[in-house]
Amino acid sequence: MTELRKDYLLERYVIIAAGRGKRPHQFTDEKKETSAKKCFFCPGSEDQTPKEIYRVGSANDWKIRVFPNKFAAVNENRDKNDAEIKTHNEFFTFAEGVGNHEVVVETPDHEKQLVDLDVDEMVDVFKTYILRIKELEQKKDVKYVLVFKNHGKDAGTSLVHSHSQIVAYNLVPTIIQQKEKAIAKYAEKAANNNSEPHCAYCKILNIEKTSDRKVFENNNFVCFTPYASRMPYEVLFFPKRHVVSVKYLNDGELYDLCDLLKKVLVKLKEFNASYNFYLHNGTGKEHQFHFHVELLPRITKWAGFELGSETIINTTSPEDAALFYRE
Ligand SMILES: [Zn+2]
Ligand SMILES: [Zn+2]
Repeated sequence: MTELRKDYLLERYVIIAAGRGKRPHQFTDEKKETSAKKCFFCPGSEDQTPKEIYRVGSANDWKIRVFPNKFAAVNENRDKNDAEIKTHNEFFTFAEGVGNHEVVVETPDHEKQLVDLDVDEMVDVFKTYILRIKELEQKKDVKYVLVFKNHGKDAGTSLVHSHSQIVAYNLVPTIIQQKEKAIAKYAEKAANNNSEPHCAYCKILNIEKTSDRKVFENNNFVCFTPYASRMPYEVLFFPKRHVVSVKYLNDGELYDLCDLLKKVLVKLKEFNASYNFYLHNGTGKEHQFHFHVELLPRITKWAGFELGSETIINTTSPEDAALFYRE
């Protein structure tokens, strides 16, 4: 069983997933590199994973596989769960962690990482995300579907076989709520002033694509290091067309997203950086969100000041980071 719990006072949630728990000494031992021989994600070990949900490819020749995460952060069995967030006394707000946690194996090849795939193969990975998002959004109690990738030990994975994950659960993440509120507020102001565009992100990407933080641009997408980057070499990817969710991107736009993502990953590979990326989709209304991908290389660790102040010290300016990518 897992449980969503809210901070006493703040709009800050955690998931208590005690089943995945480790004793304190186990947290320090993260040197588990799997070889292809013992890898559950490799062809030939399909019966070692939970029951497959989806695959790209044929019965004995797959390119992408999706199955439930063995160590799910949320519970799939909805009959027994109570997904509704409630408060027991004025300080304890909680719900059971309800939803689906899935793994997307991006390639059958143990030796390849996402960066090594062709752009067309990366597009197939993103199309798989979209299929899963569409299906998971329809499920009872699901309020949000987050697609994310952990690459490398410093990004939280010890499994080397290239994969990403999807968590669909009974909460709209606070960060999405904050962004949607800020976007709505800007849109209202812009409408009152008759200023176009109403979407703050449409305006921001137009400014950044001519700034010294611009990284790459093609027909449909632009990526840049954000003005207040939290991590060295952080990159945001935005479609030029205003769409709320990745699911509304057309084939050309998906290709252009993967084209830019690959270019950035090729640069990160130069110093073998661990990284995370995740897709930020809106929850519905057209003027409440502008889909984007955030990519955070994990070169530095947040320490006491960052945790204590939530003010992050980033030792590489986004302008220098952009220059590195462009070189
Ligand atoms: Zn493998
Ligand atoms: Zn927009």
